[in-house]
Amino acid sequence: MEVFGAEERKEALDVLETGALFRYGHEDLRKGMWKSKEFEEEVCKFTGAGYAHAVTSGSTAVATMMAAAGVGHGDEVVVPPFTFVAPVEGVFLGGALPLFGEIDETLCLSPEGIEKAITPNTKAVLLVHMCGAAADLEGILKVCRKHGLILLEDCGQAMGAFYRGKSVGLYGKAGSFSFDYFKIVTCGEGGIVITDDRSLYHKMDQISDHGHTHTGNNRGMENHHLIGFNYRISELSAAIGLAQMRKLPGILEDNKKNKNYLKERLKEIQDLQFRKLTDEDGDSATFLNFFLPSKPIAEKVFDQLKKDGVGGVTYWYTNMYHFINQWDHIKNLSYPAPLSIHALGAPQDYHQIELPRSEDLMSRMGSIGIRCTWTENETEQFADKLVGAIRKVL
Ligand SMILES: *Cc1c(COP(=O)(O)O)cnc(C)c1O
Repeated sequence: MEVFGAEERKEALDVLETGALFRYGHEDLRKGMWKSKEFEEEVCKFTGAGYAHAVTSGSTAVATMMAAAGVGHGDEVVVPPFTFVAPVEGVFLGGALPLFGEIDETLCLSPEGIEKAITPNTKAVLLVHMCGAAADLEGILKVCRKHGLILLEDCGQAMGAFYRGKSVGLYGKAGSFSFDYFKIVTCGEGGIVITDDRSLYHKMDQISDHGHTHTGNNRGMENHHLIGFNYRISELSAAIGLAQMRKLPGILEDNKKNKNYLKERLKEIQDLQFRKLTDEDGDSATFLNFFLPSKPIAEKVFDQLKKDGVGGVTYWYTNMYHFINQWDHIKNLSYPAPLSIHALGAPQDYHQIELPRSEDLMSRMGSIGIRCTWTENETEQFADKLVGAIRKVL
């Protein structure tokens, strides 16, 4: 969330003037305005998806696509150890069993990591496109085909990311996106699922609204074929998301310009490596990720950055919500209610699990959050401070 202004206010005011806060029905109130539908159409237009359905969050988007794809009780699902924790929670709450696989320099699950983690009982891969760019989709699709695994894509951090000309989220059965306050575009709180599969879309539409089929004009008399729940987005949130989607092309352009400049400057430092991009042009450029030569050096660099007051660089290795080394609650399966995994047992010993590749990469990795609002001057000054601090150590 960086650009917010008159356009968002206008869309939200449209809704406030009619009072039609609900996305379905109420034709008499809404004066022809259907913000959720417009938001979905905008996402379809931008991503090229056949279908999009907006929900309350990126987390409920994950829950929705998992259920619609038939992934639930007792199903093993491969997840990465480096991710915002939401998809792992989604697997637990959906009754499924997470299997952690290794990431590689793409910062996402690798084809080999998936292949090593799976067992004959594995049903799906919940791939997370981390830090704004696509995973090795070609390799991962091959592994999924070979082993008959369902691919689901959590694109919570990857709106605006493309792989070989096609948006992330369209390679698997479905893709989910987050529009929370920290993502490249936001609704305040919101999420969306996309797919090219019409029947899957209808299932997601129904699951996210108590099974309503959204046909006819009497909501109370609609048919229901499926159990659902309430993951409905409000018209107000959708209105904001709509304005934000329209700004996305401009945001991407500015991100890329600022990221390119920073990357060029960081190339001055030998011994610093960059995250592997599987499609450089398709990068949404929300982050510039780099690897330091070793964990002790990385620790020194992050101390130095703090001392020099250089903000905006994250060391995910010590962040409570993004890497498995900080997830005791998950390893302990701590939840007030019984879950499927309590009854069935975990498919891996989460306390003993060894992910040396991920551990090594994460212990050496830093992420610079790219701001699309930086002026040339600001980007330059930031680069000076950043390079200066790193040079004191390297
Ligand atoms: C942010 C995020 C989510 C969750 O999105 P919310 O809208 O905050 O629920 C899920 N997956 C990933 C990868 C995320 O970064």
